[in-house]
Amino acid sequence: MAIFSENKEAQQLKVKSKILLCSVCGHDHFYHRKAQLNTRAATLFNIDWANKSAHCYVCADCSHIEWFLEEQ
Ligand SMILES: [Zn+2]
Repeated sequence: MAIFSENKEAQQLKVKSKILLCSVCGHDHFYHRKAQLNTRAATLFNIDWANKSAHCYVCADCSHIEWFLEEQ
């Protein structure tokens, strides 16, 4: 279950020195949001990596979400 926070202007971003393009529609502007990956199951099984935040980039055109563990 993801809980979204942060809401900024749509912007271009680079991943590995390439401009990120939406894998669905090819648009190049995204909204950045953070999502908690913490779940009851992760806590129960003590899976530390699953308690991090993920960085979500939401396509400004079609709303497809590209997910990253690290900020881009
Ligand atoms: Zn898109």
